[in-house]
Formats: sequence, C-alpha cells, structure tokens
Amino acid sequence: MPHHKYLIIGGGMTADSAVRGIRSKDADGSIGLISEEGDPPYDRPPLSKGLWNGMEEERIWRGTSDLGVELHLGRRALRVDRDTHTVTDDRGVIYSYEKLLLATGLLPNRLASDVPGVIYFRTLADFRRLKAATEVGRRFAVIGGGFIGTEIASSLAQAGKEVVVLFEEEHLCSAVATPEMGVVLNQLFRDNGVELRPGVKVTTVRKSGPKLLVSVAGDAPETLRVDGVVAGIGSQPNTILAEGAGLEVNDGVVVDASFRTLDPDVFAAGDVAAFWSVPLGRTLRVEHEDHANASGQIAGQAMAGADVSYDRVPTFYSKIFDVRYEVVGDIDPEMDILEDWKERHRKGVVYYLRSGRVRGVTLWNLTRKVKAARTLIQDPSSFFPFDESAKISLD
Ligand SMILES: Cc1cc2nc3c(=O)[nH]c(=O)nc-3n(C[C@H](O)[C@H](O)[C@H](O)COP(=O)(O)OP(=O)(O)OC[C@H]3O[C@@H](n4cnc5c(N)ncnc54)[C@H](O)[C@@H]3O)c2cc1C
Repeated sequence: MPHHKYLIIGGGMTADSAVRGIRSKDADGSIGLISEEGDPPYDRPPLSKGLWNGMEEERIWRGTSDLGVELHLGRRALRVDRDTHTVTDDRGVIYSYEKLLLATGLLPNRLASDVPGVIYFRTLADFRRLKAATEVGRRFAVIGGGFIGTEIASSLAQAGKEVVVLFEEEHLCSAVATPEMGVVLNQLFRDNGVELRPGVKVTTVRKSGPKLLVSVAGDAPETLRVDGVVAGIGSQPNTILAEGAGLEVNDGVVVDASFRTLDPDVFAAGDVAAFWSVPLGRTLRVEHEDHANASGQIAGQAMAGADVSYDRVPTFYSKIFDVRYEVVGDIDPEMDILEDWKERHRKGVVYYLRSGRVRGVTLWNLTRKVKAARTLIQDPSSFFPFDESAKISLD
C-alpha cells in the first residue's frame, strides 16, 4: 500500500501550489498526487487563450515532478475512508495518508441531450481535441456566452474559423458586464466576424456523418450544421469524494480560513472549496487562477503544520480579442454601480457598492490596478461618495 505523509487528490493548479506550500515548510515529507488527468499539473488559462496565439505548449507545465512528488496520473480516486486514513482509486490501489487535500475542482454542466463530440472545455486533452478539429473543420458552435465561451469563441475566430455563439442571455459576459457594457461586447464579437445567437436555448446536439447538428428552441427555432461544438455552460464543485466521506458540503467543501474541513486531517482548496472570506465577510467559492494558486499554497502550509490563514480578496482576469478585464472582489448586478471611464466602455473602472462600501471592481483595459482595487475593497473607510483621491487611477 503506497503511504504518503501528504496525499493530494487532483492534478490542477491548486494541487501543484499545495505541493509548493508543503515544501516551503517540510523539505522531505513524502507527497503523493492522484490525478484523473494523464498529464502532470499545468497552467489552465492558456488553454483558451495563449495556446491559440502562438504560446508554446512546453510553457504551460508547472514542474511539479521536480518537487519530490510521486505522481499517480490517469487514476480516479473513488473513495476516502477517514477512519483508516486511506484513499482507494479506480484500479483498486489503496493509499494511506496523514494529511489529505481535496483539490478536485469543478465538474462542467452538461447539455440534457448531447453526443460524445461535444467538448466541455476544461483540460489539455480538450484543447488538443479542439485544436485537431480546427485543423480539418471550418465552422464551430460555442454554447454559452460566459467566461469560457467568450474566450474560446474569440480564440477560434482569431484562428480564422467561422464561429457562432449560442447563449440564453441577451448579452455576452452578463455575470461581469453591465448591460451597457454587454451591448459593447456583443458588438466587439460581431465586429470580429462572430455570429451571435442571444436568447436561445440549445435543446440537442446530434451527429450527422462527420458534422454535428445543433438545435435551438426559442422564437426562431433552427438547426445549425457545424464541424465542432464547445460547451461552456457553467459547472458545479466536484464534491463527490467529500460527500462520500461524510464531510460538510454546501456549494463546495466547507473549510475554515486555513482550508481545513471539520476533519483536522482533511483539507480542501481551489475551485472546490467553500471558505470564509475575511475581507468580504461571507462564505465564498472562487473558480479562478489567483485563488487556485494562493489557496493551494496556504492549504499546503497548513497541512505541514503552519498556523496560517487566508485573507486574500479574490481576483480574476480574462482576455477576449483586444479587450482585457479583471474582476476584483464581489460584483453583483444588484449592487449600486458607479462607472469611471477614461474612454467610455473601453478603458475604465466599474465600482460595485453595497451599503455604500466598495465590495468589488471591474477593471477594463487597465493594467497593474489590482493592488489598488484590493486596498480599496479592504479599506473600511471606502464609502461612497469617496473623494477623488481614493479612486483608482485611470492612467
Ligand atoms: C479553459 C480555462 C481557462 C481559464 N482561464 C482563466 C483565466 O484566464 N483567469 C482565471 O483567473 N481563471 C481561469 N480559469 C480558471 C482556473 O483555471 C481554475 O480556477 C483553476 O484551474 C482551478 O484549479 P483547481 O486545481 O482547483 O481545479 P481544476 O483545475 O479543475 O483541477 C481539478 C483536478 O482534479 C482532478 N480530479 C477531480 N476528481 C478527481 C478524482 N476523483 N480523482 C483524481 N483526480 C480528480 C481533475 O482531473 C483535475 O486534474 C480557466 C479555466 C479553464 C478551464
């Protein structure tokens, strides 16, 4: 039976960062990592951006294996037994641990009716499948107008493909953009040759020879014939193992500020963890790179016995065509919104306020302002109307 002082389930950026967190406190304690993916940990964001724009695949690797870790790749952990401190994988191998980390990420939502050709884009294997499809195919459908859908549509269009985006909302990126900004983003995609089908619901995807047929409901039902389909229609925290192990789950595995569950030997971090955010004063689950890296580090250090806690304001970035945006803190269309543009709907800051206090910020085409946004969100005196000097600089 393989024994590891530290056992990590998951092969993503959180898992890699946890290894680094452990190693910063314990130079030689044995670490094992079980991942369903056949590849060792890599940076996920380039899959929908950089790798389509000339970035070499070699640059995505995290170098986890150089840190003295035993990688058990291509294996799914099926069961955690907290009493015996063991994990069983899909080949029947039983691993024992002293401290365990669940870094199992997300499970993508699936269409009610689909075929194996639909790519629920999350992994390097998905990237390779889509890339191979673009080498022969011309026309692609992207289902979903959120973060993944818009990034993939932008990359496919820039690769010279015909792209149609089908989404239920009126505007793209509706979770992060105000309705006015949404109009601008719809136009950005159209200006770049992308066809948009807002306000539609995809009912089925079927195979027809080498093609896929995408059928939509709505006022104008139609069936599109395409060479490939990517679906980015949301996701759920992958809490299967935690539930089976009797851990508390509430939209994520519930953990404290050091990512420890109710079991002092079991931790959860990254996309799958529901943690208490000190700066935002509520339970959060964050599905982004910065959090994967930072929470993995803290969880790893805590597993190695350090007294650490997490107080980071969450942030994430995205890039679509020539528009880059960053979101810091909590943003919710129901909050009060204050806009400050240097170039209207192109370069500027959108503040989100609750009870007069800045809780979140969206930075459009501004660089190096995340720190200022974090400071503002954490400052208890950041009430609106704040004086001009407290605003984030637009230069
Ligand atoms: C295409 C794409 C682009 C992105 N771009 C950005 C971006 O630009 N900016 C940004 O901030 N964020 C971005 N993100 C989000 C960011 O990548 C995620 O927040 C981050 O990857 C989460 O890391 P994680 O390790 O917690 O989970 P994941 O990366 O989902 O990793 C989970 C791992 O656990 C494994 N696993 C799950 N269950 C088991 C099991 N039972 N046994 C074994 N292994 C298991 C999975 O195979 C996977 O390896 C992007 C995500 C995707 C998919």
